[in-house]
Order: sequence, then structure tokens, then C-alpha cells
Amino acid sequence: MTKPLIGITTFNRNNDYGRPMSGVQHTYIRAVVQAGGIPILIPSILEEEDRNDLYARVQGVLFSGGGDISIKYFQGEDHPKIAEVDDSRDITELTLLKKTVEDGKPFLAICRGVQVMNVALGGTLYTHIPDQFNTTLEHSQDEFTTIAHPVNIDEDSRLAEIFGETLLNVNSLHHQGLKDVASSLKVVGHAPDGMIEAVELPDHPYAMGVQWHPEWLTDQPVMRRLFKSFVDASQK
Ligand code: MN
Repeated sequence: MTKPLIGITTFNRNNDYGRPMSGVQHTYIRAVVQAGGIPILIPSILEEEDRNDLYARVQGVLFSGGGDISIKYFQGEDHPKIAEVDDSRDITELTLLKKTVEDGKPFLAICRGVQVMNVALGGTLYTHIPDQFNTTLEHSQDEFTTIAHPVNIDEDSRLAEIFGETLLNVNSLHHQGLKDVASSLKVVGHAPDGMIEAVELPDHPYAMGVQWHPEWLTDQPVMRRLFKSFVDASQK
């Protein structure tokens, strides 16, 4: 059986010589490969026609983590901590997210990805959690492999079926979070302080979003099951 082609969205950054590059952290690539997919990167510098052509050839899309989305897309509150806003990336991901929803193409949205998912479908974000959300939890940690807080997954959800358990231990590397949730999304996971950590789109073949970084926690079988379910759904 041919392995499914999984498109992964990318960041733009200058390399050490000041030259622009597109990239993605190896953990995303490895997680897709480990789950049985073939990763292919989606640069955000493509013209629309070529972007659509590339999109048409992938069986699933992984919306990866990264910098903040421009507040202009959700009438967000400006904040000095907003960082790494990238217009070409915003446009690419917001456009592709809507397409995956319309087309029923499987996708997994991680960290910035779940925020793109919410904004693309009409939701809003906290633009800096410590100043806008009442919590004693530190959601913006430095270590990708350190467990930061638990997440409770609703029993009545597809993610609960996928994980096979409802209490997860996750990392947390986000200073923004979901505020008003898009009406089409179902919230299925929370941190103990009430922060939204997981959403899914009912009536879609596979549309899952998580606020933590499962690609850094693949030593946990439960996180590997998430990537496996995504790649398997893309195979169909
Ligand atoms: Mn968190």
C-alpha cells in the first residue's frame, strides 16, 4: 500500500548567513514518518496556483506550530508580546485550513495550528494569556519535553477514542490560546485552569486540533496514537 503524502506547513526564517529559508522542526517530520506517512513541506512563498496544486496532491495536512497570527484576522487585542507575525504564512495556512474543511481532507493542527483552525473558522484568541486569562498555570514553558500540566479529554469525543484515555500529561509552549471558539468547533479538552487544549470538527473525516506539542512527546504511546490515527485517516 502506498504511504500517504502528508503536507506540513512551514516557517520562514533567515539562516546564519541572512538568507531566507522555509523550515519545520524535525520532530514533526519524524512523527509523520513514525506513523507511516511521507512528509512533504508546504512553503508559504508559493503563488496561489502552485499552492493549490501542491495541496491537491497531499492526502493530509499537518498545521505546525510557530509564531503568532496577525490580530487583523480576528480583531484581536494588540500586545507587546506578540511575535513572529508572518503574513505569507498566515495567508497560506488560513487558506489551506478552510480548504481542508470544505474538502473533507484530513488534518491535524498543533499549537499555532489549532489557533489557525479557530481563527480560520471565525474564532478569536487571547493574544497574551498571562495578561488576559485568569490562571496560575504557566502555559508558556521553555522545555518541549517537560510535562507542564494535565489535559482532561471529554469522554464523548473522537479524541478520547483515539487516545484511548481521557487524562493526558502534556507540555505547554504557548503564550496565546483559544478565546471565543468558532461555532463549528467542538471543544473536547481543557487544562485544569479551563484553558482550551483540544478541539475537533464534527462531521469531518478527520479534523483535530491540540494546543500542546505531541510531536515532542512521542515517547508516550498515547501521543503516537494521535499521529497514527491522522496518517491512517489520510490513507483512506
Ligand atoms: Mn497549555
